[in-house]
Amino acid sequence: MGTSIRKWRRRDFLRTGVQAVAGSVIGLKVSTPVLGAPAIITNSFTPVAISSRNGMAATAKAIEIVENGGDCLDAAVAGVKIQEDDPEDTSVGYGGLPNERGVVQLDASVMHGETHRAGAVGALENIRYPSEVAKLVMERTNRVLLVGKGALEFARMYGFKEENLLTERARELWQYWIENRSKFDDYMTPKEDIENIPPQLRHYIENGGTINLNVLDTHGNLGGCTTTSGLSFKIPGRVGDSPIIGAGLYVDNEFGAAGSTGRGEANLQTCASFLVVEEMGRGKSPTDACIEVCRRVVERSKVEYLWRNDIPAFNVNFYAINTKGDFGCASILSGTEFTVNDGNGSRYVDAAYLYERK
Ligand code: ASP
Repeated sequence: MGTSIRKWRRRDFLRTGVQAVAGSVIGLKVSTPVLGAPAIITNSFTPVAISSRNGMAATAKAIEIVENGGDCLDAAVAGVKIQEDDPEDTSVGYGGLPNERGVVQLDASVMHGETHRAGAVGALENIRYPSEVAKLVMERTNRVLLVGKGALEFARMYGFKEENLLTERARELWQYWIENRSKFDDYMTPKEDIENIPPQLRHYIENGGTINLNVLDTHGNLGGCTTTSGLSFKIPGRVGDSPIIGAGLYVDNEFGAAGSTGRGEANLQTCASFLVVEEMGRGKSPTDACIEVCRRVVERSKVEYLWRNDIPAFNVNFYAINTKGDFGCASILSGTEFTVNDGNGSRYVDAAYLYERK
């Protein structure tokens, strides 16, 4: 998808007119008006990239691309590929933690606001860049989602090379998990038992990962990408929210873009990212929209095993940006940071939240 000029509609004109009068430069560059003359509006938005905590490098890359006139989705995919490449990120691409059989299965989705087109892959094995494959599904087919063997065949057809994505570190963590899983299987449990998971492993099981990156480019177009190795040690074939349009990612050029990380099942059951964008469409700020959907997710998660000490025992995080470039993030539980770049370098920001962690 190359760079494209956004078509201007009457509503855009009215919005920019109001902003020019108000002197606002949020999401829009307005040239200095000559006294008495109408402000000259240039079709150029201040680009913004918002991402999960692991998105420092990704947001920087995305902004670099869109500042040079690049397209929002090209930028989003180029950004997340940095994490897909990084063996230290155990939640995405190469180095991602495997499923319970030791196989890395990746999920990814992309969506382009201007065309409202989307592409996604689920349970894709041996291919390091599921984000790129998802983008090709969008660009080169009239379908949205390919999974498993079919997704792999599709990637091969487009020249992607197969490789073993299981790093030594990921294999060791998986082996540790297998040996500690149960007292009643064939493996000796080297440590106490599963109730006493060492913090090192608990971190991977409880915190997950995933990268979501949403970008507003200088043409005012929105694009987003979510890519993940999914929940650690998942059931083979399990697919979470990340490759499901509306759950792990949703982009609508009229309202905004949103994506999620965290317990995918909760987002699947509530069409969460779609809902965040809808809430922005109803006038909420990105942060308020994210908080509202956190509330909705909690309300719909009443089963006992999802609660501990009277607060949810799981987390979801939403990252959102609206058409003006306002951004926000919220989580169910406190302690989440997200990354953002609005042209002044990438930085960490604290997310809003519903419950203090206990
Ligand atoms: N949302 C991802 C999934 O459920 C996991 C994560 O973000 O930690 O697959």
